[in-house]
Amino acid sequence: MPRKKLMAANWKMYKTPDQARDFFREFLPLVAGHSRDEIAVCPPFVDLPAAIGSAKDSKISIGAQDMYWEKEGAFTGEISAGMLLAVGCTHVIIGHSERRQYFGETDDTVNLKLKAALEAGLIPIVCVGEVLEEREAGLTEDVLRRQCLRAFHAISGKKAAKLVVAYEPVWAIGTGKTATPQLATEAHSLIRSEAAKAFGETLADNLRILYGGSVKPDNVKSLMSEKEIDGALIGGASLDPKSFAAIVKY
Ligand code: PEP
Repeated sequence: MPRKKLMAANWKMYKTPDQARDFFREFLPLVAGHSRDEIAVCPPFVDLPAAIGSAKDSKISIGAQDMYWEKEGAFTGEISAGMLLAVGCTHVIIGHSERRQYFGETDDTVNLKLKAALEAGLIPIVCVGEVLEEREAGLTEDVLRRQCLRAFHAISGKKAAKLVVAYEPVWAIGTGKTATPQLATEAHSLIRSEAAKAFGETLADNLRILYGGSVKPDNVKSLMSEKEIDGALIGGASLDPKSFAAIVKY
């Protein structure tokens, strides 16, 4: 069975609730009737109710960009998986490189968040990827193996059924540099083999691995035509409704 692609928007720290509503007003008619792939939009936390309200009669899913692993407690500023579900979120990005780079996210916190997201029934999109120095030093495979091994630690194949992974080479995020389809394919194959070791062949065969890093309307088609690439995580180019619609409908 071919894997259904997922085209997921990561809005990062952009847009107010009004701007989120404006986005959907323009975006929804552009993708009406387009059912080939799944679409998810991950806005900032404060925009979630506006996005969920705007997308309610569509097939578009709404996700968060992060979460905390505890259910509740004295964790000022944090949001739990249960809270995301309560407002109508279905997806959550975990371990984005910007969180690893600026906010102290580690392989171990990614693992705790992944366990909590799966336990709660969210669809986690776990981001992995090497920085430029690691690629140039020939360490890409080691880095991806370590990130996968630690993220997947002590999670059963049964629990991981909803898992989605995004391969995001950090040097390609927001830089306009995109991995070649061949380079992305190599990384995706490695991630899939790590998933097979952790969760078994069946889950690995069904696992969706997205590519992220400067995906634009003019490069999406060549990336998506690779068998190993099961969709995209799109930052900058997802902020504009026309550009995100063009990507979705590549
Ligand atoms: C991202 O934020 O995950 C991302 C891939 O950003 P961009 O598309 O802007 O490179």
